[in-house]
Amino acid sequence: MNRTFQGQLPSKIRALFGRVTEAQWRNWRWQLRHSLAGMEDLSRLLKIPDPDVRRYAELLNEYPFRVTPYFASLIDWDDSRDPLRRQMLPDVREIADRKAESRDPLEENRNSPVSGLIHRYRNRAVALVSERCAVWCRHCTRKNRLRPAESPTPRELRRMAEYVSRHPSIREVIVSGGDPLLLETEALDRLLRAFRRIRHVEVLRIGTRAPVVLPMRVDAGLAAVLESHRPLWLNTQFNHPREITPESARACERLLKAGIPVSSQTVLLKGVNDTANTLADLFNRLQRIMVRPYYLFHCDPVRGTRHLRADLQHGRAIYKALRASQGGLCLPQYVVDMPGRAGKMPVELLAPARMIHHEPRE
Ligand SMILES: *Cc1c(COP(=O)(O)O)cnc(C)c1O
Ligand code: SF4
Repeated sequence: MNRTFQGQLPSKIRALFGRVTEAQWRNWRWQLRHSLAGMEDLSRLLKIPDPDVRRYAELLNEYPFRVTPYFASLIDWDDSRDPLRRQMLPDVREIADRKAESRDPLEENRNSPVSGLIHRYRNRAVALVSERCAVWCRHCTRKNRLRPAESPTPRELRRMAEYVSRHPSIREVIVSGGDPLLLETEALDRLLRAFRRIRHVEVLRIGTRAPVVLPMRVDAGLAAVLESHRPLWLNTQFNHPREITPESARACERLLKAGIPVSSQTVLLKGVNDTANTLADLFNRLQRIMVRPYYLFHCDPVRGTRHLRADLQHGRAIYKALRASQGGLCLPQYVVDMPGRAGKMPVELLAPARMIHHEPRE
């Protein structure tokens, strides 16, 4: 038994996984198998008042709770203002505004020519190759579509690749999900190869939060496979400076050493990172681990996320302060995704009328 290692875990996590060895902890499959999910695990992490238990059950039925032991160990479960806790802890407000907002504000369903593929911009397409994620982020844009364990079948994957091969305008395929890194390395390899074989596909991109929430997933085998499919870019999502840990930094380092550029898109979230100081700290630390801050996303008007959405005027003020103080490599583009043809728009270019359009009910 490795006492030193267990001693480093916070007491709540130690109480749940008292006998875990360091080797188990660093194994991504162990992390997934021991993920904290459902009402029972939730009530082991924090006290849910009796009158709320039923509403929580209803809530989890609609929007599940799930977090890796690793990410759970970064959270202060007793602090209601903890910025990492806010990203993972279900909130009854998620089901309070059920009818008020769209399940699919970006009209991704309409831009889906074959199941699992989103083709919204002429020269790049998104392939949703996994419905699973290591965690269940409360702010997820796809929170109304994610359903556990429903990854595309080999036939669906083939149809996606066929669609891309019939469209020479597509030069970049963005492999996303869910989280594509939850696939086994061999399955991911096959899938990347299927897109890579298409002559007009110049570049691949992977969208994954694994380096942040399941950094042990980035093992030597994965890095070697990704390296073999270069040019390949990896885009992840760091939302708070505390997510930059020795483990997540090591995962990024491993990717960088395999020749995979790593970038991050941060979601602007109320009570998580909605101050200029927090974001400046995050972006500067990302630069230190050589991860390029790519986008700062204004949280989409997705049903069940309103309590986490900052107001656009506030976002603008923060970004103005960042623009004045940050170096170019520490300043992502602040964008808001508009429905329809407009797509991602820099907030700085947004006319006030559009801002009202974006959040009609705020
Ligand atoms: C964001 C997005 C992309 C990628 O856009 P970039 O600006 O290249 O990052 C592609 N397709 C869809 C549907 C998107 O939402
Ligand atoms: S990891 Fe990404 S896709 Fe998965 S729940 Fe979080 S934000 Fe959504």
